[in-house]
Amino acid sequence: MQKIKKVAIIGLGLIGSSIAHAVRRGNIAAQIAGHDASADVLARARVLDFCDSLHANAADAAQDADVVILCTPVGAYKSVAQEIAPHLKPGAILSDVGSVKSAVVRDVGPFVPKGVHFIPAHPIAGTEFSGPEAGFASLFDGRWTILTPVRGSDPGAVERLRDFWQSLGSQVDVMNAGHHDLVLAITSHLPHLIAYNIVGTAHDLEKVTQGEVIKYSASGFRDFTRIAASDPTMWRDVFLNNRDAVLEVLGRFNEDLSQLQRAVRNGDGKTLFDWFTRTRAIRRAIVNTGQDVPSFGRLPFQVYIPPPKARKGSAKKKKKAAAKKKKPVARKAAPKTKPRRAR
Ligand code: NAP
Repeated sequence: MQKIKKVAIIGLGLIGSSIAHAVRRGNIAAQIAGHDASADVLARARVLDFCDSLHANAADAAQDADVVILCTPVGAYKSVAQEIAPHLKPGAILSDVGSVKSAVVRDVGPFVPKGVHFIPAHPIAGTEFSGPEAGFASLFDGRWTILTPVRGSDPGAVERLRDFWQSLGSQVDVMNAGHHDLVLAITSHLPHLIAYNIVGTAHDLEKVTQGEVIKYSASGFRDFTRIAASDPTMWRDVFLNNRDAVLEVLGRFNEDLSQLQRAVRNGDGKTLFDWFTRTRAIRRAIVNTGQDVPSFGRLPFQVYIPPPKARKGSAKKKKKAAAKKKKPVARKAAPKTKPRRAR
């Protein structure tokens, strides 16, 4: 794709910093301008050095940019859009990365000046970590980004945004915002709600102490705790802004859960076995399409690193020994794709 003169990233957490790293990696833009509302985040971004210029206000970052991407929690979009709108240059693309899309069209759409191309987007890539240190250039490699153009979006601008995401390593799909919200309600939002619920319930159980929950956490529960560690602000905003779709799939989920409950109560092994066989096939299909690794995102091997005091020998010796220990396991078990999780 043709090199972009200036990309502006508003919000420099996990997703914003990852975009900046990936733009740098691909030499996609001559200038990466960044803004974050937090002075602390700006200071950390300066040290990490993934932007060419950092700005204390969003309007300065967005000024003269060819592509502006909102990467704050969705709840902040309206005020950010209001602030930057008068400073957007004609012909610029205004996009975002929010995990919900209809609410973004509702909140940002009214402020978009004539001549600016507003094309919401959502990269289905992420981790449970937040902040500028969490970002990395390969976050989007091989993952999907969904573009949800609004009525009257310029097809040329949509293609330019597609090129942009592809140059960050992503595959790109286009759909309408309502459909996106329904699909993501079942594949991402409901699983998060269930994880937040199950971890909260386990924590509340009177007969099980918190210590036991942590000490004896089986792998199924551990997987839920990873999801339930996701950023509270971001996820609060997701549920506040995709209420209808989440409630619709939650209703369906409750019906299915009742069916499983009945099967457990009635000792109906056939129903349970058939159900679990069907879901195992779905898991295999996800692995086969390269959207996850067989280990469910866990590291292929775990290395015990003793605390600094307990370590003996020179740093060189330790490095050599660790490399010797790691090598055969890594060769045997390393997955083809990097462990990473979709959101
Ligand atoms: P994050 O790591 O918490 O980063 C968000 C950043 O935006 C923080 O530095 C935050 O500062 C800053 N911010 C908050 N309000 C702001 C405002 N009004 N103006 C400027 N900066 C502001 O969150 P993230 O995971 O990158 O998520 C960002 C967006 O990506 C969300 O809309 C989310 O839906 C979407 N998304 C997330 C994932 C994921 O897996 N995390 C995946 C796909 C899409 P403070 O920390 O000081 O509040």
